[in-house]
Amino acid sequence: MIEKQHIIDRFKSYVIIDTESDPNSDATPSTEKQWNLANKLAEELKQIGMEDVTLDENAYIMATLPSNVSHPVPVIGFVSHFDTSPDFTGANVKPQIFENYDGKDIVLNKEQNIILSPDYFEDLLLYKGQTIITTDGKTLLGADDKAGITEIVSAMEYLINHPEIKHGKIRVGFTPDEEIGRGAHKFDVKKFGAEWAYTMDGSQVGELEYENFNAAGAVVTVKGKIVHPGSAKGKMINSMYIATDYINSLPRLETPEHTEGREGFFHLHGFKGSVDETKLQYIIRDHDKKHFEARKAMMQRLADDLNEQQEMEVVTVEIKDQYFNMREKIEPVMHIVKIAKQAMEEAGIEAIIKPIRGGTDGSQLSFMGLPCPNIFAGGHNFHGRYEFVPVESMQKAVEVIVNIAKITALDISKFKKEEE
Ligand SMILES: [Zn+2]
Repeated sequence: MIEKQHIIDRFKSYVIIDTESDPNSDATPSTEKQWNLANKLAEELKQIGMEDVTLDENAYIMATLPSNVSHPVPVIGFVSHFDTSPDFTGANVKPQIFENYDGKDIVLNKEQNIILSPDYFEDLLLYKGQTIITTDGKTLLGADDKAGITEIVSAMEYLINHPEIKHGKIRVGFTPDEEIGRGAHKFDVKKFGAEWAYTMDGSQVGELEYENFNAAGAVVTVKGKIVHPGSAKGKMINSMYIATDYINSLPRLETPEHTEGREGFFHLHGFKGSVDETKLQYIIRDHDKKHFEARKAMMQRLADDLNEQQEMEVVTVEIKDQYFNMREKIEPVMHIVKIAKQAMEEAGIEAIIKPIRGGTDGSQLSFMGLPCPNIFAGGHNFHGRYEFVPVESMQKAVEVIVNIAKITALDISKFKKEEE
C-alpha cells in the first residue's frame, strides 16, 4: 500500500496550481496557466522513471511504463484531466487536512462561517475515521481531477518500485480542458496506442461506469415585433410571451431537479429576452438513444406548432449533438469492465456500477476508438467550495490501478468467454 503522506504531498503539489479552464477561449489549452501544471507533470513522469514522456503543443501529456513480461499483453491506458471547472474559482487553493474524521461538522472557514456538514452532505459519513482533505471554503479543491492524476502517477511509481509485480505496457494520458467538454478533442488515440483505457474521474470509492448520457445543446430563438406600446394593438409580438409558452409546453417534470437514475431531461439553463427577441438555452440528456432522438424531435415540433399558431416563423430551434452514451462501444468489449471489477474486489471494494448523469472524456474517447470506462477518483461535491476527498479513497484507487495492471498481464481469456 502506498504511503498516506506521500499521496497527500503529491495531491497538494497539484491543487495549489491554478488550472481553471475557460469555455470562452478557443485556444488549447483554453488557459495559459494550465501549462504550469502540464510542464510539472511531464517533468515528474520522467523523474519517477516513465518512458516516452511527451507534452504536445496542446498540452496533452502521454507517457509509457514498459512491459516487464515476455509474453504478449494488451496495452492499456489510464487517463485524467488536469484542468478544473470554471464554475468556481481554483485560484489560491489552500487544502486543509482533517485526520481521523469524527463524523461531525467540519469548519472550512471560521470567519465566513462556512461549514461542511454531514447533515447536508451525508456522504461524509462514509469516511468516518479517515483522513479528509477539504478546501478553506473560498475555492474549489480540484480533486476533480487532480485526485485522478495523483492516483495514476502514484500507481506508476509503485509499479516501477515493485518490479516483482508483473504487467504489460501501460500508457498514461493527461488532458487539459475536460471541464469545458474538450478534453478528448485533441487526444491522439493512435499515438496513445492502447487497446483500451480507464478514466480515473469518478467520485465515490467503488464507482465503475460505462454508461453516460447522450447529450445535445439547443438554442431556441423567438423573434418578436417591437411597436410603440401606445399603438401596438394587433401589431406587437412580444417574443418573451411566446418563449414562455414554449418553455411551458415542454414536460415540466422532465427537468434535472425531478429526475434521477436513467431518466432523461430537458434543462433550460439560459433565458435572455426582450420584446424583439428571446433566446433560450437548453441542454437535452438521455441515456436511451431512441428517447434522446424523440426529445430533439419534440423540441422542433413545439416550435413548428407555435409557428403555425402565429401563422409565420417566429420560433427557430438549433440543436447540436454534444456526446453519446459510450455503452454501445463498451458492450462488445465487456471484459474491460470485468477486469476493473475484479481489480476492485481484490482491493476489498465492492464495485458500484451505475449510469453517469453526465459525460466523461472516456465517452468521447470510446467513440474515437479507445473504449474507456470511468473509475472512481474519490472526490465528492465537485466544482465548488464543499469539494473534499478522503486520502484512503485515493490509496484504494492506486491499488485498483495496480491490480488492473496485474490482472491484464494474467490470462484474461476467462473475462472474454461470455462475449463470444
Ligand atoms: Zn473530472
